[in-house]
Amino acid sequence: MVAKPIWNSFETFSKFPVLRESLHVDVSIIGAGITGITTAYFLKKAGLKVAVLDAGKIGMGTTGHSTGNLYTIIDQLLSSLDSKYDKEIIQKVLKARDFGFQTIERILRQEDIDCDYTVQPMYLFSNDKADKIEEELGISSRLGVPNLEVSPSDFPFKAKKVIKYPHQAQFNPFLYVHNLANKIVSRECQIFQDSKVEKIDKQEKGGYIISTKSGSVSSGYLVHATHTPKGIDLKFDTTLGPYREYAIAAKLAKDNYPSGIFWEYKKDEKFSFRAYKRNGHHYIVAVGKSFKVGQSQHNKDLLESLEAYLKEKFPVKEVTHYWGGQNYKPADLLPFIGRKSPGANEYIATGFSTDGLVYGTLAGKIITDLITGNKNQYEDVFNPLRVNPVKSARAFTRENLNVAKEFFKDHILGSSTKELQKLKKGEGKIMEIEGKKLAISRDENMKYHVVSAYCTHLGCIIHWNDLEKSWDCPCHGSRFKPSGEVIEGPAIDALSKVDENNENG
Ligand SMILES: Cc1cc2nc3c(=O)[nH]c(=O)nc-3n(C[C@H](O)[C@H](O)[C@H](O)COP(=O)(O)OP(=O)(O)OC[C@H]3O[C@@H](n4cnc5c(N)ncnc54)[C@H](O)[C@@H]3O)c2cc1C
Repeated sequence: MVAKPIWNSFETFSKFPVLRESLHVDVSIIGAGITGITTAYFLKKAGLKVAVLDAGKIGMGTTGHSTGNLYTIIDQLLSSLDSKYDKEIIQKVLKARDFGFQTIERILRQEDIDCDYTVQPMYLFSNDKADKIEEELGISSRLGVPNLEVSPSDFPFKAKKVIKYPHQAQFNPFLYVHNLANKIVSRECQIFQDSKVEKIDKQEKGGYIISTKSGSVSSGYLVHATHTPKGIDLKFDTTLGPYREYAIAAKLAKDNYPSGIFWEYKKDEKFSFRAYKRNGHHYIVAVGKSFKVGQSQHNKDLLESLEAYLKEKFPVKEVTHYWGGQNYKPADLLPFIGRKSPGANEYIATGFSTDGLVYGTLAGKIITDLITGNKNQYEDVFNPLRVNPVKSARAFTRENLNVAKEFFKDHILGSSTKELQKLKKGEGKIMEIEGKKLAISRDENMKYHVVSAYCTHLGCIIHWNDLEKSWDCPCHGSRFKPSGEVIEGPAIDALSKVDENNENG
């Protein structure tokens, strides 16, 4: 089993350059996932000069770690929206999602993008939570969402209640973004990888300068397409909950791969699975067991139970790949897409939950319309400057009580320890040494990595992730390498290195 997504496992891919100069463009975009590249696509079409910078490889952020399903409902189900919003708002959200969905279909046809796109039905089913599916069926029908009740006896998996949503779709999310980037890259639309933005300066005369280690871009407009906002931003820090899930790809013993997208509600968990085929190789991809970042004791167990789930459903021959991905759930259930602060020419798209392939595409169009001065019919409903205290209240309180609990639990209860020598290969532990809380881990070569245990975002104590060998912050979802560098999340600065040595224990 390899620790990488299935999506970029087949070919070698084009190399985009590293930024090594100073450029001036109309719009700079930080982040080259589906949001950044779709925004660049629309801005280029509108005649603007664009530069896109990504800290890693194009399309290999969360987009390349997703499951590549395109659906018009939402991951927390329409019943969650129904409990907060009136019919008019929900229908607007659904219309916006339908627009995002169709935009992907239009782009890939017009631009002839090779990304294994197929139209598929999507099924929601449950054996022990039939009432949840029943409720969703009623709400979907009331809202006019095309759906069909399927008789459990005609369904291939054990279920008491099944809904089918026709005309949903699947693709390879990495290939879509990577190949779209290749279509748009030009003098007017420059795309750079391995070019992490480390500094953003506002210019006195208006506009922005973003800087990497080896170059800079100045522009009149700036788009943050980094999945989660970088740095401290009270609004987003308190209204977005960071969650993580693991996904696996496997080969089946028989060639009986299912067609469709399947979401099962089982006890209090949701699992989803789908098939994927490329170059004659067939796989089944499954995801599930969502957890709050940094708050799972044993991440390995989550992966094992996902494997066990898949094996209950199919005769699995071999699990070939696993990967993890992060999502940010907004307290009022709607993503934030639009102007970042009043009057600024700075735009943001975040809070997509696990619906961001469609929302990220929609964001590309909304942000382009805001920059070019076109009215977009969806800009109000997703406006980041909206205030929805009543809609957010319960989730807001839950998320922030949780943050506060993690903060105080670790600061007050953390105990001093002299267990350095006991640390095994691949293990990490927070230890208090001479009054300092340190995050100490040991790599495959038994080398110690010692970094500060305080997340550089807002100072929470980080937790060891035993599966991915990373330090994860339970408060706002920042993740760090054992050596301290940021992997993802809102933190900008690395954890400060305390010491590194080669001591063998
Ligand atoms: C397990 C999982 C399964 C999912 N499945 C689905 C699904 O089936 N359907 C669906 O619609 N959604 C799904 N999602 C959600 C979806 O993947 C995301 O919402 C979406 O990909 C977000 O796209 P993005 O472009 O905004 O972010 P990303 O793809 O994360 O792109 C952001 C980019 O910003 C870059 N970046 C960050 N900081 C900097 C910096 N300082 N300088 C330069 N670049 C920077 C990163 O390297 C990254 O490439 C899933 C999510 C997860 C976690």
